[in-house]
Amino acid sequence: MKDQLHAIHQEAIEKIKESDSVKHLQDLRVTYLGKKGSITKVLRGMGSLSKEERPVIGDIANKVRESITENIDKKKEEFEKHALEKQLESEAIDVTLPGRPIDIGGPHLLTSIIEEIEDLFIGMGYEVREGPEVETDYYNFEALNLPKNHPARDMQDTFYLTKDLLLRTHTSPVQARTMHKYGGQKPVRMICPGIVYRRDDDDATHSHQFTQIEGLYVDKNVKMSDLKGTLNVFAKKMFGEEREIRLRPSFFPFTEPSVEMDISCKVCQGKGCSVCKKSGWIEILGAGMVHPKVLSMAGYDPEIYTGFAFGMGPDRIAMLKYGVDDIRQFYMNDIRFLQQYHKA
Ligand SMILES: [Zn+2]
Repeated sequence: MKDQLHAIHQEAIEKIKESDSVKHLQDLRVTYLGKKGSITKVLRGMGSLSKEERPVIGDIANKVRESITENIDKKKEEFEKHALEKQLESEAIDVTLPGRPIDIGGPHLLTSIIEEIEDLFIGMGYEVREGPEVETDYYNFEALNLPKNHPARDMQDTFYLTKDLLLRTHTSPVQARTMHKYGGQKPVRMICPGIVYRRDDDDATHSHQFTQIEGLYVDKNVKMSDLKGTLNVFAKKMFGEEREIRLRPSFFPFTEPSVEMDISCKVCQGKGCSVCKKSGWIEILGAGMVHPKVLSMAGYDPEIYTGFAFGMGPDRIAMLKYGVDDIRQFYMNDIRFLQQYHKA
């Protein structure tokens, strides 16, 4: 029996060593130590032993049991440790890897241009005012000296919501609203940026929706030379110190006299090229002295108050400044186009 137990011990240790899984170890435990296991089977023959031999064999059997248990536990621990190491390895995080960049949006090119112009005029003491895009016929036309049936209305055909409500064709109604609000008492020095609409056939240079920014300065003793000086500062700050300006006579119903302002062409330095259509000048904006009728309709006495107004299109300025050749690009939401103008 002694030999049998030793043989079982030997075999068990060998098998534990070769074991390749926790499950297999479990099987070995049952095979050797279980109720129907090999050691129990051997001990069934204890009855045939003498009184002296029984405790000796019992002792050996216990030692063999202990040894096998110990070996199985040790091997099991090894498996568990190995599994843990493997898990740690597979779940490892490389903290030195660079992070994934987050896409950050930026202002639309037209918004950037408008903000640039706003900053410039705020620096000259102007306030920024906004008004509704759905406007009344009165503020969009009549208060600006464009009575019903005025031929200049044809150039500003728009989208009518009712007979009297329309999508504004310019930001000038914001000027009219501000003058009316100040009731002919306070001086006005304001700019008004915003979106305007016209019934137009869209092409590379026309869009039924575009942006405008207009300025108005009403006070006692405002002169044409103040207008010219202001526009000169604007042109140099916006397009470069070397730019010259020139004023040409023009017509607007709400200003008298009216002018168009050109800046000298940057490409040819005034010699004439395809950008300036051989003229050496590029048209930038319209301006003029506020019409006495517009002043008096808003409650300002034209004998005491005078003023100037100007209006320009940020779309056109953006196209000139950045060489954009199609106005529709601003409104098509093509991210590839828009991203080019995000400032870092
Ligand atoms: Zn030119």
